[in-house]
Amino acid sequence: MDTFDALSLFSGGLDSILASKLMQSHGHKVLGLHFVSPFFGKPDKVAFWEREYGIPVQVIDVGQEFVDLMAGFPPYGFGKVLNPCVDCKILMLRRAKNLLPVYGASFLISGEVLGQRPMSQRADTLNIIRNDADVRDVLLRPLSAGLLPLTPMEESGLVDRSRLPSLCGRGRKGQYALARELGVTIIPTQAGGCRLGERESARRYWPILRAFSRPLAPYFDLANVGRQLWRGEGEQWMVMGRDHKDNQKLLRLIAPEYYVFELKSFPGPDAVGIPAPGQDWSPEVLTEAAACLASFSPKARNHDGAVEVSVIRHAEEQIIAVRPDMPHGFGDTLTWPQTRAQQKVWERDLAGG
Ligand code: SF4
Repeated sequence: MDTFDALSLFSGGLDSILASKLMQSHGHKVLGLHFVSPFFGKPDKVAFWEREYGIPVQVIDVGQEFVDLMAGFPPYGFGKVLNPCVDCKILMLRRAKNLLPVYGASFLISGEVLGQRPMSQRADTLNIIRNDADVRDVLLRPLSAGLLPLTPMEESGLVDRSRLPSLCGRGRKGQYALARELGVTIIPTQAGGCRLGERESARRYWPILRAFSRPLAPYFDLANVGRQLWRGEGEQWMVMGRDHKDNQKLLRLIAPEYYVFELKSFPGPDAVGIPAPGQDWSPEVLTEAAACLASFSPKARNHDGAVEVSVIRHAEEQIIAVRPDMPHGFGDTLTWPQTRAQQKVWERDLAGG
């Protein structure tokens, strides 16, 4: 395996590119670590980044670790939506630190810029992140280095502090100037691409965090697809394709323990029911789920009488006959304000006890 001098937290955003290129320009051999989960990460861009920026990049899957963090309520809380940015940084840095010996590297680089983000890049938060991740002695934030306390890497002369910038604040002028200096001509758009900061995604994720005692990372891949339907007080969850593309995506995500619903004789959506691990859905729930599926097919609705729905689980098929107009308990997820209100209650309950 190749060895490196430094590992860089590499999201693919401009700051992470600049931090990595800057250290390369000082003669350090840098490996970018690109963290992925159902909520963030663009592993399909790795080849482009390597080619365009000359930075080797390794994909690191933190999906389940991240889901466990969310499900236990992140100690530093959520940002404006469902984004636990402080805990996220801590998690990534801890993971990166554990990888140092694997790549023979001696320090970490992150593209954080002092004062750029309200939650995770204030001076006090940068300190919390560094201390909680236990990376005090190995983390360099080169873009703001001139404004931050001396690190052991600078003190020992491994890194030349006099050549590091002092970027700060939300403006991007300093970054653009540095990009020109470093020959970075393709500037990625500013959007971070983290779904946890989007209300629509948060509405999809929230009920999963509440419904399962230990939610699994693949559940959140399913939550990124199609229509999300819940029954009762969030006891049963079904994901339904809204079009052919959704149906194709859904079918790629099914596990043997899920229920796969399909109309037998009419065109319509496919759906997947996700039971809690080790549990089965009752015949009543299966019938309601089948009726819900049938109700989304115009041809089945126009048919006078019952229609057949195939339900497959563990490679075994059963056929359920339902009327598309029969009542069922599956409905839409909570609105964003309802989701946020529940999130606050959860936070208060935890704080109280
Ligand atoms: S925006 Fe998303 S990926 Fe970025 S720090 Fe926050 S939670 Fe992590």
